[in-house]
Amino acid sequence: MTATRWLAEYAWLPDHAEPTADVLIETADGRISAVTPLAGGSGVDTGVEVLDDAVRLPGLTLPGLANAHSHAFHRALRGRTHGGRGDFWTWRDRMYAVAQRLDPDSYLALARAVYAEMALAGVTCVGEFHYVHHNPDGTPYAEANAMGEALVEAAAHAGIRITLLDTCYLTATVDGEPLAGPQRRFGDGDALRWAERIDAYRPDDDHVRVGAAIHSVRAVPAGQLATVAGWADRHAAPLHVHLSEQPAENDACRAVHGCTPARLLADRGALGPATTAVHATHLTSGDLTLLGDAGTGVCLCPTTERDLADGIGPARRMADVGLPLSLGSDSHAVIDLFEEARAVELDERLRTRRRGHFSAAELRDAATVGGHATLGWRDAGRLAVGARADLVTVRLDSPRTAGVPPVGVWFAAGAADVTHVVVDGRTVVRDGRHLTVDVPAELTAAIEEVTS
Ligand SMILES: [Zn+2]
Repeated sequence: MTATRWLAEYAWLPDHAEPTADVLIETADGRISAVTPLAGGSGVDTGVEVLDDAVRLPGLTLPGLANAHSHAFHRALRGRTHGGRGDFWTWRDRMYAVAQRLDPDSYLALARAVYAEMALAGVTCVGEFHYVHHNPDGTPYAEANAMGEALVEAAAHAGIRITLLDTCYLTATVDGEPLAGPQRRFGDGDALRWAERIDAYRPDDDHVRVGAAIHSVRAVPAGQLATVAGWADRHAAPLHVHLSEQPAENDACRAVHGCTPARLLADRGALGPATTAVHATHLTSGDLTLLGDAGTGVCLCPTTERDLADGIGPARRMADVGLPLSLGSDSHAVIDLFEEARAVELDERLRTRRRGHFSAAELRDAATVGGHATLGWRDAGRLAVGARADLVTVRLDSPRTAGVPPVGVWFAAGAADVTHVVVDGRTVVRDGRHLTVDVPAELTAAIEEVTS
């Protein structure tokens, strides 16, 4: 692979509160090999010669954004569930209807388009919380991991990395009701068979990692939580879990187990530094302490949490007790990490009626290095020598960003302002266009296939 020199009008370097002007970034073999702020401005008294061969990146260049929580097929529901009343549970019935329609081919087509939409939004890595494992009647495909393989292939087509968070989903309720109807295809029977299935999947591509997920305390019996956690531990893999998204989950857990979901996970060995709690919206003070003591991270999904009327998680208190934060677009009502990031701050303002809870650098870190770390890519998400060569450039001359200082992008920019995306040294998006996927056309066709 050839080396490339990139000349960023602005770049946001690690440990800097604000972006730096005129930065030369050199990449080779998929890694950042040099980062040189040109203090005198590009081409003037810089001491760096031959800038003519550098690819110019007008605007602000960020590290790669990580979308740490995705269910790719939920994208098919965008705009279809927003008119009526209802709640999380009525939305879930609509979501199951789409899940019923998927097969490995249709899921590949849909996920490829969705991941390409993510690439256009500056996402260089996705955490796919994957639970549609089997045929609709619950019988395995001839290739037991066919659906997961489709997702991994889709990410390769879209040019982004993926952590396939293979999800254990065994029961319908906290008190152990069996899976029925549309949920049957999610289940492996028990946690040992779940582990056997994913042990049989050994992808060797550079763009994929396999992690584990516990769907929720509704879906994995207490006695089997340790099996899933143990698998993640043995493989040094990330472990993700939906936690306390809804008060009803907390109520059911207390009724059956006499404790909160966080306490149940902690008691069964499922909370640790490799664990990420997704949502964590309805936590008690004791739950926050448990997560903090365990070094567990939290993935916030504010646009989904507001879309599903979940509530507002205690984001500032999480950060204050040291929980590493990451962001996900989850149901893909919106795919825009800028919107997720500013929502963390803005939702906190709505709750407290005060402004100024998170710094711009904290929001940047949640969207970049924090998200990559929670997905097991600790060498990504920073514009630093040795890191993966992910570059995301945001224009500063669009109707949304014109006149905005670079530090203000988290409150002004949107996915549509991303112009250039490089993943592991390869250009995936140039001038706002995905180089290999016609995103609108492929989304239209793939969604038609699973909804008509
Ligand atoms: Zn989710």
